[in-house]
Amino acid sequence: MRTQKIDHIGIAVKSAEERIKLYRDLLGLDVYYSEELPERGLKVYFVKIGESRFELLEEISENSEIHSFLEKRGEGFHHIALKVENIEEYINKAKELGIKPLSEQPQKGAHGTKVVFLHPKTTGGLLIELVEGGEL
Ligand code: ZN
Repeated sequence: MRTQKIDHIGIAVKSAEERIKLYRDLLGLDVYYSEELPERGLKVYFVKIGESRFELLEEISENSEIHSFLEKRGEGFHHIALKVENIEEYINKAKELGIKPLSEQPQKGAHGTKVVFLHPKTTGGLLIELVEGGEL
């Protein structure tokens, strides 16, 4: 098991078009990739900042995984993603340690990655996403 780096910071947005004014037009960052993840009710946009990235998460359907987050808390910081190898080992180890993965198996992330989220009630309040593969 090896945890490699902060892969990205996830930010929930109501309208990516509106927020791109901030990231691209004001801050001059490159919004270089977007992808729809219909099974998760999301369209994601990746924004490059130095060695790291922001991921803007936009809801595309009412059963989106960010729907209740946006309803309860509005836009803003959503999760921090860590790049790992052998994500299945992390899922098993988390369960041994009493840290709750939000899915038993990795889900499909953007650009062919495998991802799993860890429940913030079991991580000290932080929604952590583990990501394997899919370097852009
Ligand atoms: Zn993410």
